[in-house]
Amino acid sequence: MDRLGKILEWCKSDRVRPPAYSEKTRASLKRCNKRHALKHPDRFEARKARFKIPVQPCEVCGSEDNIHRHHHNYSKPDDVIFLCKAHHAEMHKWDSN
Ligand SMILES: [Zn+2]
Ligand SMILES: [Zn+2]
Repeated sequence: MDRLGKILEWCKSDRVRPPAYSEKTRASLKRCNKRHALKHPDRFEARKARFKIPVQPCEVCGSEDNIHRHHHNYSKPDDVIFLCKAHHAEMHKWDSN
């Protein structure tokens, strides 16, 4: 299965992270999430936290242009993946099926 396929699988399962996610990224996202979750209501922080995550190259092709954040679950702000414009569009195409 190709890269995009794996990410789509992750999105559908809502359990496992995409294989492209590094341990380091995962740890820092977790820390950030935890710290803010203690203080504030979920919704507000979910919205805020995603803007603190630095933009990363597309999970599928590694492009750094036109990067979009794709959220699978807004109650879990660290569940964000980065996709270029093209792959983001593709993701939503699959998602709506
Ligand atoms: Zn891409
Ligand atoms: Zn999206």
